[in-house]
Amino acid sequence: MAELSPEKIEGIKERLLDRKRRLWLEVKEQLRSNIGDGYQEMLSTARDEEDQAAVSLLAETHLTLLGPKRQELEAIEEALLRLENGTYGMCEACGCAIEPRRLEVMPETPLCRACMSHREKLAKAASR
Ligand SMILES: [Zn+2]
Repeated sequence: MAELSPEKIEGIKERLLDRKRRLWLEVKEQLRSNIGDGYQEMLSTARDEEDQAAVSLLAETHLTLLGPKRQELEAIEEALLRLENGTYGMCEACGCAIEPRRLEVMPETPLCRACMSHREKLAKAASR
């Protein structure tokens, strides 16, 4: 990730963490308003990372409910992992550097533009 300065990395990390926090709040809200009282207590006590594991287990059973948000959360988690192990900014599919401008817009993306549009084409073809 030659083109990303430590300052940039730090900024991206903050944005990802911030987005993650907000998504979690939304997910919890959504679960709270959509599921029975049985989970209320569990959700209201779910505050830190470990409890979030319990919430994500819960979310697992409400996949359709959470769909896109859950996917985004997973993408963010993975991006944070890549930041940790130093592979951030590299395309998951072809290994080339993801365009810095693309990372500015979608910091959680694991793919360069070419691979993403390739994948989208495949998805479209498959759904036809
Ligand atoms: Zn690629």
